[in-house]
Amino acid sequence: MITMQNITILGATGTIGESTLDVVARHPDRFRVVALTASTQLEKLVAQCRRFQPRHAVVLDEVSAIRLRRLLAQEGLATEVLFGIDDLAHVASLPEVDTVMAAIVGSAGLRPAMAAAYAGKRILLANKETLVMAGSLFMQAVARGGAELLPIDSEHNAIFQALPREFNGDLAASGVRRILLTASGGPFRTTPLEDLPFVTPEQACAHPNWVMGKKISVDSATMMNKGLEVIEARWLFNAQPDQIEVLIHPQSVVHSMVDYLDGSVIAQLGNPDMRTPIAYALGFPERIESGVSALDLIGRALTFEAPDYERFPCLKLAYDALAQGGMLPAALNAANEEAVAAYLAGAIGYSRIAAAIEYALSRTLSGEPGELDDLIEADAQARRDARAFLAKRAA
Ligand code: NAD
Ligand code: MG
Repeated sequence: MITMQNITILGATGTIGESTLDVVARHPDRFRVVALTASTQLEKLVAQCRRFQPRHAVVLDEVSAIRLRRLLAQEGLATEVLFGIDDLAHVASLPEVDTVMAAIVGSAGLRPAMAAAYAGKRILLANKETLVMAGSLFMQAVARGGAELLPIDSEHNAIFQALPREFNGDLAASGVRRILLTASGGPFRTTPLEDLPFVTPEQACAHPNWVMGKKISVDSATMMNKGLEVIEARWLFNAQPDQIEVLIHPQSVVHSMVDYLDGSVIAQLGNPDMRTPIAYALGFPERIESGVSALDLIGRALTFEAPDYERFPCLKLAYDALAQGGMLPAALNAANEEAVAAYLAGAIGYSRIAAAIEYALSRTLSGEPGELDDLIEADAQARRDARAFLAKRAA
């Protein structure tokens, strides 16, 4: 028997949010949309409200809320409009909500994901920044709240599929030797090193295989995205850093693999379309239609290479931050967000991204975060450091 899931989609107007709604729309017998959220893309949000008739819509601020109320009223739609961080947390923890898709980009996604964890929801986690910033506290919240965590990031979704169904956080007990995290290498995999300082945001956002938001596209170009994913894998699968190996696989067909100690390697393959991991998590443990076409492997070469830290210093910075632990992953994430925003705004050159993060990390205090506020402070300090560094040396 199919049971109806009530769902909140945080970040509904983003690429993950839209892919989620695309899958949801294929299964009106399984999913009912209770709440949709966006920062400021109101026209898109109105169209989504028209189609999915959610009870609540949440936007960034009061100005956007007033505008959205007017737009919805013109169409005679009854969706209640809320705004701000508290209301994001509210719609992530409503008693009638079963499932929360956490697809806000960046550190703004942390509080609502935490709220969903404490409220014991099934959390479909796309917002990897939550685990990078607050992995330990978030996993504690999931355990305390009795929440269920399903990874949306394609690599982690692949690993989740390749691990035994009964996996309980003990890789050794499951016979796992290593996790092999694949990476496309992004648009600059073969660009001559001396040209890298001059690559533009447009080039960085032109990803060879995936269509994604701008921030994660730049992260893919620098491979900071893979660095964040190494940290994400550490928490999701309780893996030590040396159990997580990154492999460049330019075709993005193998989404990741698990290497077992008997020599078996189990991989998940598919076309590069986020609707596959989204559908897997939405339907779990069942398989449901996603709209993704069947993979055609005939005539396709699948290749693998080792990542080069000279080309991708951000990957090394992420491994170092993970090894040092404490506040460093939160600082890494925050400094990266600031540097990527400055790069996208045309204020700094590409090579300053890694330099700014390295500087901010060098100024981050060690020590374990006792509570979320410690991490939020480390985040704020790293942003100030990155900005100060970039203001002085923009080239
Ligand atoms: P996106 O930029 O396309 O969309 C982001 C969404 O978050 C939008 O709905 C936007 O309105 C909302 N948002 C942005 N800032 C906000 C704020 N301050 N407060 C509230 N809402 C805000 O991003 P995306 O590509 O959909 O990525 C979303 C998340 O999923 C990111 O954490 C990303 O790392 C992760 N992810 C994305 C992909 C992908 O293929 N796009 C793959 C794996 C993981
Ligand atoms: Mg990924």
